[in-house]
Amino acid sequence: VTDWARLTIDAEELQNHIDRLGEVGALEAGGLFRGLYDRNWQRAIDLVEGWMAEAGLVARRDAVGNLFGRSEGTASSRCVASGSHIDTVRSGGRYDGALGVLAALSAVKALLRACGPPKKSLEVLVTCEEEGSRFRSNFWGSRAIIGKVLPSEARALFDSDGVGLGDAMREVGLDPARIPQAARGDIDAFIELHIEQGRVLEAGGHAIGVVDTITGMHQARVEVTGRQDHAGTTPMDLRRDAMAGAAEMVQRIAELATEMGRPAVATVGTMSVRPGAVNIVPGEVVFTVDARHPVPEQHVRLAEQVRRTIEEVARRRGLGLQVQPILDHQPVPMDATVMAAIEAGALAEGLDYLVMASGAGHDSQILAERIPAGMIFVPSRDGRSHSPAEHTPIEQIVPGVRVLARALHRLAY
Ligand SMILES: [Zn+2]
Repeated sequence: VTDWARLTIDAEELQNHIDRLGEVGALEAGGLFRGLYDRNWQRAIDLVEGWMAEAGLVARRDAVGNLFGRSEGTASSRCVASGSHIDTVRSGGRYDGALGVLAALSAVKALLRACGPPKKSLEVLVTCEEEGSRFRSNFWGSRAIIGKVLPSEARALFDSDGVGLGDAMREVGLDPARIPQAARGDIDAFIELHIEQGRVLEAGGHAIGVVDTITGMHQARVEVTGRQDHAGTTPMDLRRDAMAGAAEMVQRIAELATEMGRPAVATVGTMSVRPGAVNIVPGEVVFTVDARHPVPEQHVRLAEQVRRTIEEVARRRGLGLQVQPILDHQPVPMDATVMAAIEAGALAEGLDYLVMASGAGHDSQILAERIPAGMIFVPSRDGRSHSPAEHTPIEQIVPGVRVLARALHRLAY
């Protein structure tokens, strides 16, 4: 029996860690950037490794630069892990990824103080890369842990300066040939605490989100071809205006997701118009679609409806059409046992929690393929994320860390 009154989260230390890690990679224009294997990434990893050592954890880096801080289990060779990613988007905030790392460290320290060593080993996991902001190598760290990075990827990917991923690895002392050694088979459960990155929790007044699914994601590139003509001399009824057609498509795509209702979302986030002149009827428009839904059938239906609608508009307007899929990720359910441990923790803490889908991608969706995984969301102020405005006050973080500690206790002690 654990005396939970003795479980104290050191809020001051956690805030201090958030602030200090948040300075690593800070940009003059605001926000911060830590790209995979760059100098700020190295400083951030070193900083966290130092904090792990202070906490009495044994730190280890794997073949791709994921960092683990381990408290050895007394009764099992298996382990339970918690953490998130250390890299950031360009001009990102202090909380995305970083909070999951620091919350795990804080929860594990609190558990060791209150309950002593665990039965199964506890590991604070710092994945080296999730965002793909330097190399388009999304989920590099978590994919390596489940053995899904091919050494050939290190030869195929380059950053915007032309530096190869393999060379960037060698610069920080890693050998691309050893990537397969990062695979793990001994992790029984993984919990990732993360900011919600949306405004559902805040709007509903919920303290915690318990993630049940990470949403499915369908992305495509749409090329609409009309006829380039003189904007003054071509009557409206004789035009094949690629932009007017694309505009109708964009509007219909938004309507489709709106009609389907929450949590369906569909976004046209990029568009280019050719030739792009004030006095020319556009001959070609290229745009992207991103459509997401956490329920598998609905996810498929949304993607199909988007496709059918685009085709219908093109046909009616006599426009050419090419749709190329960019990616298609099915929704990923979280593990029932891990979810139950998180919910039990939230109940025991007397918190108002919401079971919800994650609309963003996370390391957990990759790890879930091999490792029972779950996620805890804490509110994001005004829903802001991937922005310097990202913020969650410490009073809203600590309850999440307590839930994390209780869930880890259930799984590892
Ligand atoms: Zn993240």
